[in-house]
Amino acid sequence: MAEVATVEINDAIFCQQHSKEVCENCGYDGREENDAFFGLDPIDREGIEAPAGAPNKDGVYQCKKHGSTACNQCYGWKKQITRLRTQAKKAGKK
Ligand SMILES: [Zn+2]
Ligand SMILES: [Zn+2]
Repeated sequence: MAEVATVEINDAIFCQQHSKEVCENCGYDGREENDAFFGLDPIDREGIEAPAGAPNKDGVYQCKKHGSTACNQCYGWKKQITRLRTQAKKAGKK
C-alpha cells in the first residue's frame, strides 16, 4: 500500500489532501494513532474532519475562521473524539 501523505493539525493526524481522519479516497485511517495520542483506547468510531485551514508562515496549520493553530472550536479534537466514542458505544449496545 502506498504511503499516504498526512498532516498534523493541533496534534491530530489527517490525510493531507482532504483533512480527514478516515479517508476512503486516500485509504487512510488515523483513528488509532489519534486515539492513542489522546490517551484513549482505539474503538470503531466515526472519523473527525478538520475544518478549512491553511499552514501559517511557520508551517503550522491554523483554522481559516479564527486564525488559530489551537482553536478550541475548530480543532477541539479531544472533545469531538470523546463525543464520537460515546456515540459509537451507544450504537454498539443496541
Ligand atoms: Zn484523503
Ligand atoms: Zn477556529
